[in-house]
Amino acid sequence: MRIRIVYFILVISAISGCQSKYFTDKDFQSVLKIDSHAHINSAKGFFEEQALKDNFILITLNVDHSDSVAVKQQLDFSLLSAGKYPGKVFYGATFYFDTVGWGTDGWSKKVISHLDSDISGGAISVKLWKNIGMTVRERNGKFIMADDPALEPVIDYIISKNLPVSGHLGEPRNCWLPLNEMTVRGDSNYFAQNPQYHMFLHPEYPSYEDQIKARDNLLEKHPSLKFIGCHLGSLEWNVDELAKRLDKFPNLAVDMAARISHLQYQSSKDRTRVRDFCIKYQDRLLYGTDLSDEGNDDAVNMAKGIHDTWLQDWRYFATKDEMTSGAFKGKFEGLQLPKEVVRKIFSENAIKWYKLGKV
Ligand SMILES: [Zn+2]
Repeated sequence: MRIRIVYFILVISAISGCQSKYFTDKDFQSVLKIDSHAHINSAKGFFEEQALKDNFILITLNVDHSDSVAVKQQLDFSLLSAGKYPGKVFYGATFYFDTVGWGTDGWSKKVISHLDSDISGGAISVKLWKNIGMTVRERNGKFIMADDPALEPVIDYIISKNLPVSGHLGEPRNCWLPLNEMTVRGDSNYFAQNPQYHMFLHPEYPSYEDQIKARDNLLEKHPSLKFIGCHLGSLEWNVDELAKRLDKFPNLAVDMAARISHLQYQSSKDRTRVRDFCIKYQDRLLYGTDLSDEGNDDAVNMAKGIHDTWLQDWRYFATKDEMTSGAFKGKFEGLQLPKEVVRKIFSENAIKWYKLGKV
């Protein structure tokens, strides 16, 4: 009798062990998750309250939209939120890229002293934004690229602080393609409405390849720099291209913010290729959305939008559900990554790369 009971227990645990290799959508709530690329630009707390409900930690990244006042405002919102939700909200700092004095010692000293105060206040990273490469220019009109030697003192300073850079350099490759060749609707709609940012129409600007090359040069010059490439490192269109950089630069990781539809698009063509990529680079991928609270939306709408996005993304990575996306035509199947890979993507990698400590 006893032997039979033991056998029965073994069989049951073998069956449940087999089933529990993967999460389901019911596990969404119970697993700790981190949205490693968010923007809290409001004191209302709607974003944070939804994060608490859905078991999410938020990393809000400040961005230099070429406006020093806005940079200060974002920092104030970050400090407020991180103070109110300790251990649940973290923030990355940035600096206003003032081209006055560019190339002088004074320029880098000013930036470093600004960052020093943000970092001693608790910032966990420094964001470099696409204004580097796409907006800021030298006096002679030449674009300032990410590998410019005049940026080096700032990069060396960030390395000395042992902090990562959150680097959004360049744009999706679609930005350099004609509208009818763009792979996802979000891009074609956006660039149709904002032709001033559609680089296909502006060949006088640096090319897509120039942006990627400058970022790669920066990584090559600073092998000890921890670099979290926002938006799949602007290599969202091809997991093989991204894999080449991850192989070449061991201190490179990427967040997926606002680019999961590009992974879904690729997996609608070849699911195994994307799934194998996620498994092979499971230590280098950080979940993130780029969702923001600008203080304009009401609490109910905001909460629903955030929750639906998070849950939909969870289903894509954790389950094998058949899904559709507003971004492109056709169906695709969830990647159903093993539990340990889902945990890494949804929290453990952010904890490690952003050094969040015990959360
Ligand atoms: Zn962002």
